[in-house]
Amino acid sequence: MNRNIIELSEVKRTYPVSRGVFSLSKTTVKAVNGITLHVGDGETLGLVGESGCGKSTLARLLTGLEKPDSGSIIFKGKALDQWTAAELGTMVQMVFQDPYSSLNPRHRIGSIISEGMRINNLGNRKEIAARVDELLVQVGLRPEHATRYPHEFSGGQRQRVAIARAIAMNPDLIVCDEPVSALDVSVQAQVLNLLKSIQKEFGLSYVFISHDLSVVSHISDRVAVMYLGMLMEVSPTEDLYRDPLHPYTRILLDAVPVPDPSVRFEEVAISGEMPSPISPPSGCPFHPRCPMVMEICSKERPIMRDMGKGRNVFCHLY
Ligand code: ADP
Repeated sequence: MNRNIIELSEVKRTYPVSRGVFSLSKTTVKAVNGITLHVGDGETLGLVGESGCGKSTLARLLTGLEKPDSGSIIFKGKALDQWTAAELGTMVQMVFQDPYSSLNPRHRIGSIISEGMRINNLGNRKEIAARVDELLVQVGLRPEHATRYPHEFSGGQRQRVAIARAIAMNPDLIVCDEPVSALDVSVQAQVLNLLKSIQKEFGLSYVFISHDLSVVSHISDRVAVMYLGMLMEVSPTEDLYRDPLHPYTRILLDAVPVPDPSVRFEEVAISGEMPSPISPPSGCPFHPRCPMVMEICSKERPIMRDMGKGRNVFCHLY
């Protein structure tokens, strides 16, 4: 891990929304509200937070599917928007949550996996077919599966197909948005292990988005905790779980029963309602719900504190 595959600096993204059902006037949702973050070469960065905190928006920004309103995203040393869509398509891939809707039901598995290779003319028919066979074996399926359709597969197998499609072009980065959340717990572990072994073999980087703390702890080198479009804490996984710095991270982890940590953030009880990203609280966005709140917290947005050993926290306690 000697350099960064991607670096974000003060990235913001808003969406226009109407003020109410009967109102014509518009306001904006601050979906991603000033994120500074990097992902190292060959690293897995876990991204966790409650539903609506901006994880999927950040994923779309990382893959170039959307552009930030402000801030910079540097990918492989060059501004993300300086790469062409075709170039990005070979270097950055996504694996989505729902393996039922992310694979075109009318296309055969072989055609789904080889789409990128065909668009980019990466070989003749025979060569591409051979590569598809190889990819199917790599993800634990069989070459004869190439002629079948998505509906003939289970959820876990479909996610294996989605992974084969993602690695077909030898990408540098895969953004996985809740890739195992729709799968049975027994299948989740198999898919996570597959992702790990692929990373080991090809040395690629992952951004792994999930609201499931246990899933994130299994796969991530570092974890970034998001709240209302902002970062609360970024720490190496072991440190974050053993000694969380931010009061928000602490509450999330305290709420996880030790024998079965597969608790979803939605089930975690934190006092007070999650504020709206249309008008996030001043200062630290977590201050209205924080048990450690101080006067300064509603006034000033905390800057990033470098706590050493790769630990960063955005909190006035430090
Ligand atoms: P998460 O993935 O953490 O659930 P999202 O990135 O999907 O969060 O959403 C963050 C916030 O931005 C939410 O309040 C959501 O309603 C809003 N949002 C996301 N995408 C859009 C969009 N295309 N138009 C309007 N609002 C959006």
